[in-house]
Amino acid sequence: MIALEKTHAREGLWQVEAPVPEIGPDDVLIRVKKTGICGTDVHIWNWDEWAANTVPTPLITGHEFAGEIVELGRNVKDLALGQRCSGEGHLIGTTSRQSRAGKFHLDPATRGIGVNEQGAFAEYVRLPAFNVVPLPDEISDDIGAILDPLGNAVHTALSFDLIGEDVLVTGAGPIGIMAAAVARHAGARHVVITDVNPDRLALATRVADVVPVNVAERELSEIIGQLGMLQGFDVGLEMSGNQAALDQMVEAMTMGGRIAMLGIPPGKSPVDWSRIVFKAITIKGVYGREIFETWYKMIAMLQNGLDVSGLITHRFPAAEFEAGFAAMMSGASGKVVLDWT
Ligand code: NAD
Ligand code: ZN
Repeated sequence: MIALEKTHAREGLWQVEAPVPEIGPDDVLIRVKKTGICGTDVHIWNWDEWAANTVPTPLITGHEFAGEIVELGRNVKDLALGQRCSGEGHLIGTTSRQSRAGKFHLDPATRGIGVNEQGAFAEYVRLPAFNVVPLPDEISDDIGAILDPLGNAVHTALSFDLIGEDVLVTGAGPIGIMAAAVARHAGARHVVITDVNPDRLALATRVADVVPVNVAERELSEIIGQLGMLQGFDVGLEMSGNQAALDQMVEAMTMGGRIAMLGIPPGKSPVDWSRIVFKAITIKGVYGREIFETWYKMIAMLQNGLDVSGLITHRFPAAEFEAGFAAMMSGASGKVVLDWT
């Protein structure tokens, strides 16, 4: 089969001919139809410090996918050949305290496809049947291919009650925009999204009913007054990984505000912790998706009017992956989807 591989420990990805994966008794084989390019894939392409310390070579990369089941392990009884599906790319163990308590997303032994294990940028991917998420007919393969990052957005956004709340999303990358769309769908009052990149803010307003703020040009305090908020935001969703954004968020929160952080700041962060203490702010770190409650909620919301299709700005045949990565790296894209059919 054709696959995109991190063959060499340096910048780039290589298209290779690889054997179709052999499946175990509890696995399925999935014919991949569409894949999303993630920021993580860009880190792996660039071979930054994190990637060099984390990703073994050679490794087929990619973890955002939709496809169809073409082979079932002998123990797999509740899935069928031909089933359209996406799947949770975090492979979890069953022996940790967290897993045994049913908190699979907190398992310390988690391994990721396309990061630690063979991934989905290929014509076929092997996945434990446990990880498969069947797709209802009304969810397209394109949307199926971006459920992994939508799941990050949903997990983060639904961390706190949003109904009637004023929500600040910092970072209008693909995941921030999706989180803003989820907050709007879930019944927030005002949803404000910040970035320093005008292309990203313009995309955000095309995908969701949000107030865009370019924090390179405007202060958040102006917006708080303009929108008639009492003191500041009730809920903050940090989606940029940028230190300045977290500081701006803390300043813009109301007393007793709640912050969920998905963005990954580089290194240790010099935050003014006294502001967090005196404002009695709750901060929650978010990793991955809740397995499988996030998947359940996300699919239900997509069936009930949540529309993030406008976020897919580029589509390429898999053979044109270099153009796909260039679009991702341009900073002007939303999600980029590769077609493996
Ligand atoms: P992205 O890099 O595409 O988007 C981040 C955005 O933040 C960019 O548009 C950038 O211009 C913007 N930004 C930079 N400085 C800013 C500032 N001062 N204020 C507001 N915005 C600013 O990232 P993404 O793919 O949308 O992912 C969002 C974040 O979530 C990243 O940090 C990523 O590493 C992280 N992530 C975490 C998990 C997890 O499990 N915790 C999973 C996936 C992604
Ligand atoms: Zn991803």
